[in-house]
Amino acid sequence: MQNISKSQNNEYVTITSCPLCGKEKFLTSHTCKDYTVSQESFVLMQCKKCSFLFTQNFPSEDKIDSYYESENYISHTNTNRGLTALLYHWVRSITLNKKAKLIKRVYPHKNGVLLDYGAGTGYFAHKMQTKQWEVEAFEKSKKARTVARARLGLHIKEESAINLLAPNSIDIITLWHVLEHLEDLDGFFKLFHNLLIEQGLLIVAVPNYTSYDADHYKEKWAAYDVPRHLWHFSPTTMQKWGIKHGFVLAEHYPMHFDGFYVSILSEKNQKHFLALLKGFYVGLKGFFHALAKKERSSSMIYVFRKKH
Ligand SMILES: [Zn+2]
Repeated sequence: MQNISKSQNNEYVTITSCPLCGKEKFLTSHTCKDYTVSQESFVLMQCKKCSFLFTQNFPSEDKIDSYYESENYISHTNTNRGLTALLYHWVRSITLNKKAKLIKRVYPHKNGVLLDYGAGTGYFAHKMQTKQWEVEAFEKSKKARTVARARLGLHIKEESAINLLAPNSIDIITLWHVLEHLEDLDGFFKLFHNLLIEQGLLIVAVPNYTSYDADHYKEKWAAYDVPRHLWHFSPTTMQKWGIKHGFVLAEHYPMHFDGFYVSILSEKNQKHFLALLKGFYVGLKGFFHALAKKERSSSMIYVFRKKH
């Protein structure tokens, strides 16, 4: 990437020009703490021109793995402890069905090849296999790949294997809460555009920092999840990313459950008394706000098609 500089020891990445629009004037937005692993603080900065929000001075790809090493990082470890984890697993089974239905709705033509990037422990990829999709799944974490093989018999490839795929060979590419973790956004958008067939769809789910719960918790909003989340999207900036890389935003949908999970986690991070109850209450308020205006939802699903 041209718009970054690395620290002298190559440990941290400093954004010097906006990854989205290239301008060099930023505002400091929030200072957020990494509650999950390191307890370190990171500054969020926002481009004055296009409003793209990012984590400044985040750990480089060589160093960031250590920030994922936590028992609490549920999506990778698949542990079953605690009420929040239980809730997460219950909601996952519901959201898996919702995701499968969404794909059927937005891509009614046929089954085809679905690429799930950042497949985690493989539950979504496996679900789509049962719906007669041919699935290509990729995941960085070896631990997650091993879990997928043991529990689901699913073969997930290591992420670099994506470069072996032929151009114009994929019907649908999905990234469920993955894009915000990828350092080279431009590179990935180009790759995905190249891999998709003409009618293909790119489906991306990311947290929405213009949501009700983000406004409520401010710098303590759990979905900032620094420094693992390098980029923070709004419906506006997500659409701009698509346009930059030859996509048109066809649809966007709220993810109603995420607000509950993120709100409860935000309360738990503060070690609040009755965190579950308080978080549920904020999640419920956010749910009603998102019903009235979907762009207030904690996370959103964006469906992009290629611009013709
Ligand atoms: Zn910008």
